[in-house]
Parts: sequence; structure tokens; C-alpha cells
Amino acid sequence: MNTYSTDYLKNQIEENIAMLHETTDTASNQTFYKAAAKTVNDILIERSKHFQAQAASKGVKQVNYLSMEFLMGRSLKNSLYNLGLVDQFEKIMKDYDVNLTDLYECEPDAGLGNGGLGRLAACYLDGFATQGYNAYGYSILYEFGIFQQKIVDGWQTELPDNWLPGGRVWLHAKPELAVDVHFGGYIDEFWDNGYHFTSHKNYTTVKAVPYDMYVSGYNSPAVAILRLWKAESPAFDMESFNRGDYTHALSQSMTAEAISKVLYPNDNHTQGKMLRLRQQYFLCAASVADITNRHMREYGTLDNFAEKNTIHINDTHPTLAIPELMRILLDECGYGWDHAWKIVTKTFNYTNHTVMKEALEVWNEDIFKEILPRIYQIVAEINRRFVEEMNQQFAWDTMRIERMAIVSNHQVRMANLCVYTSNKVNGVSKLHSEIIKQNVFHEFYDLYPAKFTNVTNGIAYRRWLLQSNPWLTNLLKSTIGDGFLQDASQLKKFEKYATDKKVHKQLAEAKLSAKKALASYMKKTQGIEMNVNSMFDVQVKRMHEYKRQHLNALNIITDYLYLKENPNADFVPKTYIFGAKAAPGYYMAKQIIKLLCCLAEEIKKDPVISKKLSVVYLENYSVTLSEYIMPASEVSEQISLAGTEASGTGNMKFMLNGAVTLGTMDGANVEICERVGNDNIVIFGMDAEQVETTKEMGYAPIEYYNNNPDIKRAIDFIESGVAGSTFPDIANSLKWNDPYMVLADFDSYRKAQAKISELYQKPDVWYTMAAMNIANAGYFSADRSVKDYATGIWELE
Ligand SMILES: *Cc1c(COP(=O)(O)O)cnc(C)c1O
Repeated sequence: MNTYSTDYLKNQIEENIAMLHETTDTASNQTFYKAAAKTVNDILIERSKHFQAQAASKGVKQVNYLSMEFLMGRSLKNSLYNLGLVDQFEKIMKDYDVNLTDLYECEPDAGLGNGGLGRLAACYLDGFATQGYNAYGYSILYEFGIFQQKIVDGWQTELPDNWLPGGRVWLHAKPELAVDVHFGGYIDEFWDNGYHFTSHKNYTTVKAVPYDMYVSGYNSPAVAILRLWKAESPAFDMESFNRGDYTHALSQSMTAEAISKVLYPNDNHTQGKMLRLRQQYFLCAASVADITNRHMREYGTLDNFAEKNTIHINDTHPTLAIPELMRILLDECGYGWDHAWKIVTKTFNYTNHTVMKEALEVWNEDIFKEILPRIYQIVAEINRRFVEEMNQQFAWDTMRIERMAIVSNHQVRMANLCVYTSNKVNGVSKLHSEIIKQNVFHEFYDLYPAKFTNVTNGIAYRRWLLQSNPWLTNLLKSTIGDGFLQDASQLKKFEKYATDKKVHKQLAEAKLSAKKALASYMKKTQGIEMNVNSMFDVQVKRMHEYKRQHLNALNIITDYLYLKENPNADFVPKTYIFGAKAAPGYYMAKQIIKLLCCLAEEIKKDPVISKKLSVVYLENYSVTLSEYIMPASEVSEQISLAGTEASGTGNMKFMLNGAVTLGTMDGANVEICERVGNDNIVIFGMDAEQVETTKEMGYAPIEYYNNNPDIKRAIDFIESGVAGSTFPDIANSLKWNDPYMVLADFDSYRKAQAKISELYQKPDVWYTMAAMNIANAGYFSADRSVKDYATGIWELE
């Protein structure tokens, strides 16, 4: 597939360096990075054009994946890898005395997402391209992505993520495809010749300009396009300006540009801010305009829109695409309601990502109406018809109808609109998809059982194995060949080597190399020392009470207090590694970060204990950092309260790299367990059903505090002081409320930790487990997930 000669590539790089007014003799790594990136991006643009032309000529159905977040990470290494150009670029750079891996380090992460949800969207672009689907991702070109986290004196501080200076080379502006988006104003309604018309008056216009990012498939001609919308003020308002209204003209442009300024840093939690609603409508209106414009150019009618397009809604954030497509069909194309509704309901599909109350999006009706007057009318009409339909079926059950309504109680409920409208609704793991049917949407499920389905999440496994873990990749190539590079299911062949002593030794060597690489990277970038001869026990993910980093902390504290009293006790040396960003306004999450940092400091002060036990808090957990961490991990902490983590994808990255999962029966852990078998995972705690019954019986955490001396000692310890700080709010929350039932699972977690230590001391057992995890990780590939979407939901060929 590689048709680019080294001479050609070298020539392109040198031209790009010249364009930056430098020469290969004087150029810095930054300049080499930009020149290399531009060279690769030009190749991607060419290939994308070619692929698009092919798709258009065959009239294939297009996938449009709308998501407020795409957590892309870096592009250079991934693109070179997928295009098969790594060796050539290495050689070229060597000629200039430049190290290719140093250039990778020049690239900022494109951090246009918060965590799992945004990373999933990014992994799916990789899957779409590799599987050869004609796919567009749609999102916002945030000028500032997820904040850069600095830990200062144990507290999280947030710095703006100014990624564009280094990230811009990956963006391809398409000003000719810009569209206008309208906000505010009012709706004039009138009748003419027996027809009802509406006219949107006095609105504010924001211009949406697309910038494309490209993701090449691995060993595939397909390229996925991520179309990112930048908000601009429309051609400067000369009218106001000339009228002498200078400040109005300028403030208009500032309001417009604010829309794509910054990503909201909340994960699994909604913030009902007007700017956020504007961002959501901006994404939806621009994307739906783009999709319908393209379809009109191709077919000249929207009658067959749903046959040639599917629009996928990643969580409820892009729900407004539904009424927006209705608006276009009704107001701009003259369709009647029923015909328009038929097209819309065939077009949309929706993925639910959470069942937690605080994350279910609702908008205040008055705000909604003020910002989006026409969209409000359409949503109200959808609701009116829905309620009418329900009244015919359940007139006796007004409570039920109220619960299912789309607009009620002065709120617009995005999830209900999605579920009612969408052709298919899916959860992201088997367990989560069941919970959706039985709990949050069970009334919709009773009515429309065929709508509900499951697609278990998957990851771009090449990024976390082939590109990040050369040591393990080489071992796999030497044992099972290289079929797994293209087809993750072939990892299964490694099962044959699971009990092979020679392979165990090689697995141990590969792990040690990755641990050393992480340790030296952390030393260099954050000044952190790590003992590579200790077990690396890792919990990296967003900081959230439901993910229970504080359960992990309580166990470490219990060990620490035990070692204080028994300094000579037998103890498997361990390093507990944490990495997590907290939403800036999430008080409890920030307290937990401080607690972990204080715990790290307290333990470090004791020279004897710190030989056996240490805690490190890695700053600024991000996609790039995770690429260093995953290969080096030995224990994967997946300890959320059962029923709260929809799937998780971090758990998949860990197992792929041979870490053993220490987890609850939650999200995709359940399916990991099913695949590796009970002997190759350590499960603890209540399952989702037991959580429900325990809650129903009335959960009283204080009883656990009073009856379990370890719990009492650990909580008293954080209340009395850790490295000079006290944490009464965490302690009180645990004792008196404990919404995520940390104390109920504590004892079982301790036993599971003890089991991990025991297993780790038997290398034969441990590396068999590691091998079984690697061999069974293939199912959790994004390639498999997107195929499930394609056949089960989008009806692609
Ligand atoms: C994979 C990933 C996540 C998701 O982790 P979970 O453990 O599934 O919550 C979050 N952030 C980053 C940077 C990731 O790479």
C-alpha cells in the first residue's frame, strides 16, 4: 500500500521546512515536527479525497458520528504507523541527525474531550477508517481543550490548554463549506392560502467554519474525517458599525467567538449553562446543514436521506440534531410533519453513556425557548404528539406519561427525546444495556423493545499495544506471527503460550522494560522517582466518587498503619500509581486528590516503609500519558460501585498490556471476566443486584465504621491528619452518606488485594494470568465495536 518513495518524502519535508523560513541545518525539533506533520497531513488529504470520490461514486451510506468530545491525543505517530511510513521517516530523520521519537514529543495532545466518552469517539474514527466505512465525525474546534492539570502543594490547579500552536498543522480549513447558525430572536407565524408558515425574525447569526482532521485506517485506503466547527462572527456587522454602534458590532463578534472557545471540563455531570446549550446547538445545526447540503448536492432531494445517511448521537449532548433536521425538512424543504418525522426517525440512533441521575441532561424550558425559539416549538410539538399517543394507550396512568414526557415540569429532557425518536438505542456494555432496559428507560423498553440493543465498547488497540508497547509487540510477533496487527481476534493464538515458562520470562522482561521507560519518562517530565522493582498497581481515569479512588486510598492507609506497627512484616513491594483530572468545581474530587498527594508524602517520610510501599500521583493524565502507563501496569484498578460505570475502556487498555484486573462486576469488567475466566481476574464486592437490595434495606455506613476496626482506624487517620492536612469532609461523607458504598465493599476489597499479593509472588501463576488477559483482549477492539454498529444499528453493507 505504501506508494511514497523516501526521496519524495524527503523532498516534501525540506520544502515544508523552507516554507517555515528555515533550513535543515538550523531547524529545531519543533520545526522538523511541523514539517513532518505537514507532509503526513498532505498525504492524508490526498487519500481522503480519493476515498471520498470512490464512496460517492458507489453511493454508499454515510455514517455521521456527532459528539461534543473527541479526545484524539497525538496524530504524528499514529498516522505514520497506520500509513506504514514509520521506518522511512526514521531513516530520513536520522539523515538530519534527528530522532523521530523526539519529534513525537513536540506534538501537543488534541484534548477535545474529558475522558472515556471522548476517547471512545476517537477510537471509533480509527475503527471506521480501518474497516473502510465512509464516516465523518462531527465536533467543535475548541480553542482550549481539557485543561492542563498542575498539582501545587497537593491541590489540583487548572491551566488553559493552548494546543493550537502545535496542533494547527493537522487541521485543514474548508471555508467554502461554512454555514450560518441562528440564535435567539422570535418566530412569526402566519397563514397564507391555507398553509401555515413560520418565519424566524431578529436572530443573531454565528458563522460555523469547518476544519477537518484526518484519521487513516491501518493498512487501508480509507480515511475518516473529523469535521470540527469553529465559531466566527459573520462578516463584520458593518451596518451597526456605520450606524455608529461600534460596541454592539464588536460585542456581537465576541459572543459568536465564545461558542468554540473552551471545552466544558465536566465528566459524567451536567452543567446547565446557556453557553453550553449554545455550543450544543452550534454543533448540531452546523453538522446537520453540512450533511443535508452534501446529500442535496449528490441526490437533489432529501426523500432518500435516511437510506444514504445515519446520524449517530454520542450521549445526549448532540440531541438537538433531531429537531434541527425536522426544522430543515419542515421550514426549508416544505415537507409535511408526518413525512419529515418518518425520515427523522429512520435517520437517528443514540448511545446512552450513563444511568446516573446527575449526568442525565435536562434544560430549563425558558432558557431553551429564549435561545432556540423555533427548535423549542418543534420539540414542544414532538412532545404534544407523543403525549397524545401515550394518552390513547395509558390514559389511566398519568404518572407514567409524565415520567416519559419530553417536556415536563419546566424542563426539556434530552434522553427522552433521543429514546422516543431514535431507531436504535444502545448501551455500551452488556450489563449497562440491561440496566437501561430494566431501570432508567424501562417504560420505553416496554413500549419499544426492538429499539434497545447493546454494543460493548472497544479501543484502538494498535495505539496502546503496537505503537506504545514495542516490547510486548515483539514478543507476540515472535510467538503468534503478525496476523494480530490487522485482526485483534488473532491475539487468541497467544493462549497456547499461556503456561510456557520461557514465555513467562519474556513477559517479565517486556514488563520490566516498559516500567523502566515509564519511570524514566516520569523522572524527566515530572521529577518523580519510581521503584521499578515494586509491583505497579494503577488507577488512572477521571477523578469521581463513583470510581472510588478513595476506596483504593483506604486500603493503602490500612496497609500503611499495619506496616507502622509491623515494620518487618512480609510485604510485596508495591507502588500505587494514580492519575486523574477532577472537574474544577467538584469539591469532593479535589479533596480526594489532595488526600492521595498527602498520603504519598506521609509514606515517603518513612524510610523503612517507603521501601515496600509508595504512592505516586502523576500529573495531567491524558491520552499521551496513558500510552506510557498502560504497558507498564501490572494491576488494573477498576473498582467502581457495581451499576455505575457504563463500560470503561481503560480496563481494556490494561488487559491488552497484560495487567490483571482487580475489579467489581461493573461495566465491561463483567465481559472481561467472562472472557478470561475467573482464574485470571480478581473480582470483589457487591454485584449490581446486591447494590440495589442493600440500598432498599437502608444502607447505614456508620455501622461498618463501628464494626470494622480497619475502617475505623483508616477514617480516623484521615480525620486526624495526613502529612499535616485533615480531611473531615471525606470522612463525614463516608460515615454518614457514602453514596457509592465504599464501606460496604471495603472488606471484600482488602481480601482481593491480599489475593493479588499472593498471586504476584508466584510468577508462574501471575504470568499465566497476564498471558490469558492479552490473549483475550481482541474482542475489545474498536474494529469489532464499529462492525457491531454497522450491522446491528446502521444497516451498512
Ligand atoms: C481510556 C481513557 C479514559 C477512560 O478511562 P476509564 O478507566 O474507562 O474511565 C480516560 N481518559 C483517558 C486519557 C483515556 O485514555
